[in-house]
Amino acid sequence: AKRGGRNTYRHYTAGMQLYSLDRMSLETDLRLAIERNEFELYYQPQIALDSGKVVGKEALIRWHHPHRGLLTPIHFIEIAEETGLIVAIGQWVIREACRQHQHWLQAGFQPMRISVNISAMQFYQSNFCDMVETIIHDTGINPGYLEFELTESMFMQDADTVVKTLRRLHGLGIKLAIDDFGTGYSNLSYLRKFPIDRLKVDQSFIKGIEHEPINVEIVKTIAALARSMSLELVAEGVETDVELHWAESSGCTFVQGYHFSQPLPAEKFTRWVTEYKY
Ligand code: C2E
Ligand code: CA
Ligand code: CA
Ligand code: CA
Repeated sequence: AKRGGRNTYRHYTAGMQLYSLDRMSLETDLRLAIERNEFELYYQPQIALDSGKVVGKEALIRWHHPHRGLLTPIHFIEIAEETGLIVAIGQWVIREACRQHQHWLQAGFQPMRISVNISAMQFYQSNFCDMVETIIHDTGINPGYLEFELTESMFMQDADTVVKTLRRLHGLGIKLAIDDFGTGYSNLSYLRKFPIDRLKVDQSFIKGIEHEPINVEIVKTIAALARSMSLELVAEGVETDVELHWAESSGCTFVQGYHFSQPLPAEKFTRWVTEYKY
């Protein structure tokens, strides 16, 4: 038993060493990724169920790693947050999303909303709003087309600072959405205090919704809440016809998911929108 324990321990240590070496090399690469221009934004369409039209898109970051290939956020966002690199990366994301929005406008496309994920550490930077204002100014984007996706966990800290930041962003004309709604904070009073425009129902409630009567009830309850507060409601992670049907009949007004499209690089996204029929 003793030997078994030691072997287990040894095995564990070797695993940890491998893990931390791997992590260190990723961290080193991540520090260089912005200047090496290795990030790219992919875009996933959002459809309004009343008109059936594409009315927006979410920007999702991808990393073209020099050796590892194309990486999704699951491989690096946590490291970016732990190291603080998310602040610089997040700034790059906002600027790139605004630049691409303006590029689409200049190419003659109808403007549509562009949603950007904001991480907590980024949101809490004291110069966050100034930085955002600078980007709006530099790129010339109409901030009414810009949306920030925030998470409920951000609202658990100092409420005064949060309210100030949200009011200032909203005052600039930026739309504010709560991402992964239903998975976080249970005290919903912040919805009254804060200038929120949309809720995004977490995809865990949508996945296989037809087999989970409780999820139908949860989504319906969220939809009633959204209606009573005049908030738009987006269903995320819609993959199948059945999920689309249930999302719609439960009261979601916007949908997003593989059923329509995966997140796509800008050019493919443009082609997808051009060919989309509803
Ligand atoms: P999220 O904001 O909840 O984004 C939705 C995730 O679900 C995306 O994964 C998207 O590709 C995926 N997805 C969309 N439709 C479907 C579907 O029908 N089925 C399934 N199974 N998945 C679907 P992705 O792109 O890997 O991003 C993961 C998370 O990383 C995001 O979750 C977000 O929290 C974070 N993230 C992505 N881009 C950024 C960014 O630019 N900045 C920050 N701070 N976080 C980001
Ligand atoms: Ca999101
Ligand atoms: Ca989400
Ligand atoms: Ca998420």
